[in-house]
Amino acid sequence: MSRHFNYLAIGAGSGGIAGANRAAQRGATAAVIEANAVGGTCVNVGCVPKKVMWYGAHIAEALKYSTDYGFNVTQNSFSWATLVQNREAYIQRIHNSYHKGFDNNGVTYIEGFARFVDAHTVEVNGERITADHITVAVGGRPTRPDIPGSEHGIDSDGFFALTAQPKKALVIGAGYIAVEIAGVLHALGTDTHLLVRKDRPLRNFDSDITDMLLERMAQDKLNLHSQSNVIKVEKVSDGSLSVHCDNGTVFTGVDCLIWAIGREPATDKLNLPAAGVATDKDGYIRTDKYQNTNVNGIYAVGDITGEAQLTPVAVKAARLLAERLFNPALSDAHMDYSLIPTVVFSHPPIGTIGLTEAEARQQFGDDNVKIYRSNFAAMYNAITSHRALSRFKLVCAGKDEKVVGLHGIGEGMDEVLQGFAVAIKMGATKADFDATVALHPTSAEEFVTLR
Ligand code: FAD
Ligand code: NDP
Repeated sequence: MSRHFNYLAIGAGSGGIAGANRAAQRGATAAVIEANAVGGTCVNVGCVPKKVMWYGAHIAEALKYSTDYGFNVTQNSFSWATLVQNREAYIQRIHNSYHKGFDNNGVTYIEGFARFVDAHTVEVNGERITADHITVAVGGRPTRPDIPGSEHGIDSDGFFALTAQPKKALVIGAGYIAVEIAGVLHALGTDTHLLVRKDRPLRNFDSDITDMLLERMAQDKLNLHSQSNVIKVEKVSDGSLSVHCDNGTVFTGVDCLIWAIGREPATDKLNLPAAGVATDKDGYIRTDKYQNTNVNGIYAVGDITGEAQLTPVAVKAARLLAERLFNPALSDAHMDYSLIPTVVFSHPPIGTIGLTEAEARQQFGDDNVKIYRSNFAAMYNAITSHRALSRFKLVCAGKDEKVVGLHGIGEGMDEVLQGFAVAIKMGATKADFDATVALHPTSAEEFVTLR
C-alpha cells in the first residue's frame, strides 16, 4: 500500500498541524503523521497544561489576598488530582477539535512514527508515503544531565504526568520551564527549591526584570539556590532522594526532582541521511528564510529549526510556508523572525520584546540609548498586606527614541504585551507612546506615561 500527497507534515504539533491545514485550505492534498498525541508538545506537555497549572497557582495566590479584600475564607484542601483530571479532559477536547479541523479541511491524519526512505518518501507502519513537499516538524524533547542518579529525576513531561502533589520538590534549571514549574509548585504549597548553576535564572532577559523576579521570589519565599550545580542524585532507603551539589550542599527528603535544563531536537531517529537532509552539530535542521532545508522539497518548521522555540513561531512559519507553496498570490511568503514577543509565566509573569538594555547599549552605543522605567504597586495588590512591586521598562534608541525593547514584570503583563508588540513591530517611538491616551486604572498605562 502507498499513498501520495502534495504536502506531508511529519509531526502533528504546533507547526505540523498548522501547515497541513493551511495547505489543504489552499487546495493541496495534505497529510500529517504523528507518533504520539495530536497537538504535540504545546497541547500535551507544554503551553496548555502549563497554563492550566499556572491558573491553579493564580487562584492559590488570590486566596492569599482574599482576606484583605474582606473575605473570610477557609481553604480546607487542594486536590492536585482534580486539577490534573480537569486539565486532561480539556486537552482531550482540544484533541477532538483538531481531528474535526482535519476532517473539515480534508487533511489525512496518520498515526505512527515516520522515517525517511528518500527525499520524497517516508515509511510509517510499513507503508511508504510519497509527497511533493515534506515538512519536518518533529519538535524536541527534554534534556537530561549525564550525572550519577539523574534517572531518579523527572523532566517537564514527567511533571505533567504527576497525579499527586510533591511535598518537597527540587527544580533544576534556569530557563522558562524551570521558572514556570517552580513558581506553580511553590504557589500550590509544595516546599519548592529552584537550583540554578549560575547567579540567577533567565540570564538572557533584561537584568532589571530578573532583578525584580528575584525580589518577588524572595518576598514570596520561593527558595532560590544560586551557584548550585547538581553532581549526584541518590535514592535512599525511605524512597526519597538526596541531591548533591558541587558547592557541598546536600538536599535530603526530596520526593520530586525535576530536570528543566533545556531541550534537544528529535531528529535522531528520522533517518535524515536517507533524504540527504543536513543537521547542525546539535541535531537541529537549519533552514533559509523560506524554511527550505538543503534538500529541494523538504522544509523544516518549529522547534526543530533551533529558532525561537515558541508555538506561535512554529504556527506562523508553517502557515506562511503553505501559502508560499500553494497560494500563487503569496509566492514570496516567509516568516519574519525579528521582534518576537514572549512571556514567561512566572509569578508574576514577565513579558518582553526586542532588545534588552545591555543589547541596545552594545548595538547603538551608550549615548544613543535612553531608558525609561517604572516601579509601581499594581492596584490589585497595593491594598493588600502582600503589597508587591511591578517593573515596566522601555529601551529607546536614536534621536527619535524608537522603542527597540519593551520589558515588564507584574500582574497582567502576559496580557499587556500583545498590543504593545504590534506598536513596536510597526516601529513606534517614545513620542508615539506618549501620544496615546492612557487606560486608567490599569498597569498597562505605565507604558504610555513613562517619564
Ligand atoms: P512539537 O509541538 O514538539 O511537535 C512535534 C511532534 O512531532 C510531536 O507530537 C512528536 O510526537 C512528533 N514526532 C516526532 N518525531 C516524529 C516522527 N518521526 N514521526 C511522527 N511524529 C513525530 N511555547 C509558547 O509559545 N508558549 C508557552 O507558554 C510555552 N510553554 C511551554 C511549556 C513547556 C513545558 C514546554 C516543553 C514548551 C513550551 N512552549 C511554549 C514551547 C512550545 O511547546 C513549542 O515551541 C512548540 O510546541 C513547538 O512546536 P513544533 O511543531 O515545532 O513541535
Ligand atoms: P532553556 O534553554 O530556556 O533554559 C535552560 C537553561 O538551564 C539553560 O539556559 C541553562 O541556564 C540551564 N542549564 C543548562 N544545563 C544545565 C545543567 N546541566 N544544570 C543546571 N542548569 C542547566 O530551556 P527550557 O527547557 O527552560 O525551555 C526550552 C524552550 O521552550 C525555551 O527556550 C522556550 O523557547 C520554550 N518555552 C517557552 C515557554 C513560554 O513561552 N512561556 C515556556 C516553556 C518553554 P544557565 O546557563 O543560566 O545555567
